[in-house]
Amino acid sequence: MTHKRLIDLDVKKKKVIVRVDFNVPLQEGRVRDDTRIRAALPTLEYLLREQGSLIVLSHLGRPKGKINDDLRLDPVAQRLSDLLGVEVLKSDQVWGPEVKKMVENLKPGQVCMPENTRFDPGEEENSPELAREWASLADVFVSDAFGTLHRAHASNAGLARYLPSAAGLLVEKELEALGSLRAENVDRPFAAILGGAKVSDKLGVIEALLPRVDLMVLGGGMANTFLAAEGRDMGDSLVEESQIDKARELLKKARESKTEIILPTDLVISPKIDASDEKSISEDAITPGWKAVDIGQKSIDAFREKLQAAGTIFWNGPLGVFEVDDFARGTIEIARALSEFSAWTVIGGGDSVAAVEAAGVADKMGHICTGGGAALKYLEGKELPGLKALEVEE
Ligand code: ADP
Ligand code: MG
Repeated sequence: MTHKRLIDLDVKKKKVIVRVDFNVPLQEGRVRDDTRIRAALPTLEYLLREQGSLIVLSHLGRPKGKINDDLRLDPVAQRLSDLLGVEVLKSDQVWGPEVKKMVENLKPGQVCMPENTRFDPGEEENSPELAREWASLADVFVSDAFGTLHRAHASNAGLARYLPSAAGLLVEKELEALGSLRAENVDRPFAAILGGAKVSDKLGVIEALLPRVDLMVLGGGMANTFLAAEGRDMGDSLVEESQIDKARELLKKARESKTEIILPTDLVISPKIDASDEKSISEDAITPGWKAVDIGQKSIDAFREKLQAAGTIFWNGPLGVFEVDDFARGTIEIARALSEFSAWTVIGGGDSVAAVEAAGVADKMGHICTGGGAALKYLEGKELPGLKALEVEE
């Protein structure tokens, strides 16, 4: 099975409904970072060259099925218009008579945006009625919201049921990059760096990656649970107690296989996670009341040394509380090191991407994923409902 591609879909002069992921950060009513909007431009520009009339759907934030004035798409439509150099008509309705009218009047080469898809509870419930309502507006559907492919929502998996559908160019690009990490002929040594905070969410991907990578480097909150599993007293650090046994089992599995797992040895510790008034280095048990907030210099050096020879590196999850400048050092130093290595590097995860950008080295990475959750699910070998919905017989 494979999915249908954009070049195989007849979009010429058609009404095309396009699902994009414009879930961008806003600040004072303006788009603060338009990376995700820019990532969708190749697909939208292709469709405009084909004289399509575009109905662009996106969610923004978590309005949980209710109208939320702070999460309206107007600033996003404005930025899209600036980037495309084409007027983007915007409706305050997610669907309904106003949207219908806007779409009826839409000419080839024109673009419109209904309101935030998640204002309607049917979106996250994958309501067939809502999907049919949107489908009735268009001739074909293009799915380019890579970041939501791991969800079965009405505007992705739902829509694909009712219209001829294809994956957009961003989805293709993401799958190509991540697919090469799943391929047999991945350039070795293949290293994964996993950090961040969501241990229970990410143990699955660690388990799936262990037999495939040559080296696994753990840092950040992720490493704490593994260090606890090795018997280290972690003081008041973020540790997911319920996952300690699982972490111990994974360490054992790694030891039995050829995969090398490395954990930080020295840790930056502090009584507060969000302020750096006091900090110290711990190479052993952490005193009660103190928390691990970053990896120490010895660990940075060891990680760098080990990663230097890699042919391919996948990184998800910051190695410390990088939002606090004093605790960002491990993350920033490793980001800089990766930018100098010859390995092909893939960065996945919202905070990881932000960290690489903060280190000023985003443009030196091989690939930056626009969707962390979807990327992890894909690497874990799980089915992505939004992609499955696009499958066709070969
Ligand atoms: P991503 O968004 O890249 O997938 P996560 O959301 O899993 O990454 O994790 C990012 C968060 O992890 C950041 O907010 C960071 O502050 C936090 N973090 C990293 N290291 C630690 C730590 N030692 N203790 C607590 N939180 C941490
Ligand atoms: Mg995150």
